[in-house]
Amino acid sequence: MRSFTFERASSPAAAAKAVAERPGAKFIAGGTNLLDLMKLQIETPTHLVDVNRLGLDAIEATPDGGLRIGALVRNTDLAADARVRRDYAILSRALLAGASGQLRNKATTAGNLLQRTRCPYFYETALPCNKRAPGSGCAAIGGLNRNQAVLGASEACIATHPSDMAIAMRALDATVETVSPDGASRAIPVADLHRLPGDTPEIETILAAGELITAVTLPPPAPGVHVYRKVRDRASYAFATVSVAAILTRDGGRISGGRLAFGGLAHKPWRVEAAEREIGRGAEAVADIVLAGARTSEHNAFKLPLVRRTLAVTLTEAAQGTRR
Ligand code: SF4
Repeated sequence: MRSFTFERASSPAAAAKAVAERPGAKFIAGGTNLLDLMKLQIETPTHLVDVNRLGLDAIEATPDGGLRIGALVRNTDLAADARVRRDYAILSRALLAGASGQLRNKATTAGNLLQRTRCPYFYETALPCNKRAPGSGCAAIGGLNRNQAVLGASEACIATHPSDMAIAMRALDATVETVSPDGASRAIPVADLHRLPGDTPEIETILAAGELITAVTLPPPAPGVHVYRKVRDRASYAFATVSVAAILTRDGGRISGGRLAFGGLAHKPWRVEAAEREIGRGAEAVADIVLAGARTSEHNAFKLPLVRRTLAVTLTEAAQGTRR
């Protein structure tokens, strides 16, 4: 690990200013991803700004009936919150499907959204990676790409976003609140937070330099059956090969509508609203639209039928009431 300096911020705006003013500075909260990256010298911050004591750790009801989740709420606490479990079950289930108990105890809401890809070549510093070293190439293209993206990828990068929580947030139409170095705040729909890789895969979000996430707001609860189904190589402590976050409405014994967001497919949570309008026609009709434009690599073509099957079982179980 390279040496760095450290400070503890006194306010969100002061933290944002401290990071913006110092080249190479970064925020640190739970550190569950950043510290690993620092040990491998993939991340080499010159200065760390600790945001853990900024009081951004409350979960509060909003006047319109939604929920405001502080950026520093730990994943464990968010998953266990009675309001989340009752009204936003999809979020609780996605959180519990991710990482391990120990990691969830430390990992924060904002950090979860901002965690970096688990593409193995990103972590292998002896091999080219445009995300780690812009312009060096992409070892995953032509390499072992079984878990890489099939939607929205580019010639520069085919990595996926690793978060389960972000997929649920996308289905819930969450909004991210931020503060900038000048103290101004803004609201960003989570749909717009993450970028596709394009020619600059090293730039993963639309956040400006020093912009700090302070909270995530959920709109009032969406009625329906909440399902988070994650397909992965082992039953726990593994990232999604394919996942779906579904909020589905039932009409009698059939699914009549809802929302669907997918993980394991792209550089960001993947949601196609046009596909949701076809939910009543069944999984194949939905999957045809979700997967339009899909481009597979040598080892991951299996993801396309896997999406179809994952969707089919999700809709069938929700229709039968075996998932609530
Ligand atoms: Fe790097 Fe992206 Fe290629 Fe992985 S897929 S090696 S993260 S450029």
